[in-house]
Amino acid sequence: MRYCKKCAMPDTRPSSIFSEDGVCQSCRNYEKRKTINWDERKKELIKMCDKYRRKDGFYDCVIPVSGGKDSHFLVYTIKEKMGMNPLLITVGDPFTKTDAGLKNFRNLGDVFDCDHILFNLSIDLFRRVTRIAFEEFGEPLRFVEAAIYTVPMKMGMKMGIPLVVFGENSAYEYGSTDEQNYSATEYILRIFKAINVDYWLQRGVSIKEVNAIIPPTEQELKENKVEVIFMSYFSPWSSTQHLEIAKRYGFRDLAHEWKREGCIEDFEQIDSIAYMVHLWMKYPKFGFQRVSDIVSRRVREGELSLPEAKRLIMECDHKLDQRAMEDFINFLGYTPKQFWDIVEKFWNRNIFEKVDETWKLKNPVYKDLIESQKNG
Ligand SMILES: [Zn+2]
Repeated sequence: MRYCKKCAMPDTRPSSIFSEDGVCQSCRNYEKRKTINWDERKKELIKMCDKYRRKDGFYDCVIPVSGGKDSHFLVYTIKEKMGMNPLLITVGDPFTKTDAGLKNFRNLGDVFDCDHILFNLSIDLFRRVTRIAFEEFGEPLRFVEAAIYTVPMKMGMKMGIPLVVFGENSAYEYGSTDEQNYSATEYILRIFKAINVDYWLQRGVSIKEVNAIIPPTEQELKENKVEVIFMSYFSPWSSTQHLEIAKRYGFRDLAHEWKREGCIEDFEQIDSIAYMVHLWMKYPKFGFQRVSDIVSRRVREGELSLPEAKRLIMECDHKLDQRAMEDFINFLGYTPKQFWDIVEKFWNRNIFEKVDETWKLKNPVYKDLIESQKNG
């Protein structure tokens, strides 16, 4: 397990690319921001919106949203700044919601005066597929995360709305590719190709239950002239800036509601309580989770020093929030012991070793901090 010498991101992140001198692609992509002419990109966005803006009053684009701060930023940009008439579509999960999450969801359509569709999977189906994906892949929300892409695309297409606006190109921002394209349709097609519908059918999910994850074909997208864009191509993606704008429009964080373990902020992924378990499952498999993601981004943005980042990773990255875990097991019907027995098989034996019944990273990024603590 190696770590980026600039931002502390490990190379165990799936499809991560490191240069010879030990710098991750994410850092290099971030550096490229300085050379991008963002005024030009803004003009490209205006041109794109002009191409799809309708005069008959019908929706001119679809925005898949969660209700979080990035969704607020997206709708703010497309509706307020670009003057478009978007249709918002959310694919929800039935885990218990936080108070802030419920208010933010409602606020999004309200403050920007947009129609907003909420698509919920059958709860019984959700429970079954989430258990399967947790037990087999340690990735509980695999099914619903496929639906997050397919449902808004298909709905938009069927309604004759060709433009779909996604937020962040996570492959580019998190450094598993160095290409940043104007059109994101290719990228979406790659996601669609990875959806394995047969897998679910072979595990007892009926043909009537897989509608939400059957992606549109390349042919259908072409025939309907569907165009997908990522806002992160047009505007430098920044969580602090998005938070500021979102708060101005009524977004609430978790500050007065829930202090989450294994988290160093209170405004990312805050709506669904058990969702934290999905994020945390990266830790046994890859040796890092949300805290590493966030501190490495802050280091890149110049808001945090590398030693401070390492300290936060040492303190928090391994922790799973108790309340999130309880919501997860209560919803899916596991006992705590059953939950931890399932997690047990996912600890990556190449990077972890068991010391006194606890899994410890063999080569943590904060190794030097432990050494210096030992030495006084
Ligand atoms: Zn890096």
